[in-house]
Amino acid sequence: VITEGGIARLTGALRGLPELHRGEVWLAGAGPGDPAHLTLHALAGLMQADTIVYDALVDQRVIELAAPGAQRIFAGKRGGRPSAKQADINGELVRLARQGARVLRLKGGDPCVFGRGADEMMTLARHGIPFRLVPGITAGLAALSMALIPATARGVNRGIFLATGHGAAGDDDWSDWAAVAQLGQPIVLYMALARIEAIVRGLLAGGLSATTPAAVIAAATLPTQRLAITALADLPDAITGNDIAPPAIVVIGDIVRTRAELTTLMPLLAQEALA
Ligand code: SAH
Repeated sequence: VITEGGIARLTGALRGLPELHRGEVWLAGAGPGDPAHLTLHALAGLMQADTIVYDALVDQRVIELAAPGAQRIFAGKRGGRPSAKQADINGELVRLARQGARVLRLKGGDPCVFGRGADEMMTLARHGIPFRLVPGITAGLAALSMALIPATARGVNRGIFLATGHGAAGDDDWSDWAAVAQLGQPIVLYMALARIEAIVRGLLAGGLSATTPAAVIAAATLPTQRLAITALADLPDAITGNDIAPPAIVVIGDIVRTRAELTTLMPLLAQEALA
């Protein structure tokens, strides 16, 4: 139970955060979905913004934390021409800031992890628009937590490789998955479902064992969250067989085993964390 004193301290913490000024843009991460994973800094942005420009992966419950009168602009790229659309978003941010709005540009996860945050910062800087970058919890790390899979574990791995499974437009064959396999470290993939067969083939060709543990976590932190645990070679079947749809994170490597070890020790964990 959260006491009145606790709420008062939270209010104090929010008041201590920077002011979002007129003509300024905060480029902020909203975390993986559930508002529980917002940072106080992003929340302070939501509460101060006149205009919120948000992406498809930002949960409606997060948007609802905005001031009632705030303008809400959806800038999702579902079904659009991605590059043309990104230019429009960049232009919109500049236009809004120049009009003197307090602008919150809100993205799923962290703005600079496969989020075009770099593009938007460059645009704002080129136009002399003051901005701040506000980090968020990236989906890859949140998904691992929800599945009780540690990103690093002593004696298991010494690094972790975050990658997109999806090339930039027209660059679908970017990845040398066989070379990625040689890293010998766990791999966490964003946007990988559509190309999972080719990725798995490449990783196997690069020397990863067919039995390397793998997991797919979809809609992490959301009520629709789903988990499948499998072996590398069976990933494509596990995705179709368990009705797994984007957004999803794929993780491949020995860290996945920790979940089974934990749930053996404490079977209740399996129900509480993920089905
Ligand atoms: N900037 C975001 C990533 C955007 S790319 C971040 O830092 O999280 C979009 C991809 O993120 C999706 O295709 C999926 O791979 C992943 N993703 C985003 N939200 C997710 C969620 N709640 N559960 C699982 N994967 C998610």
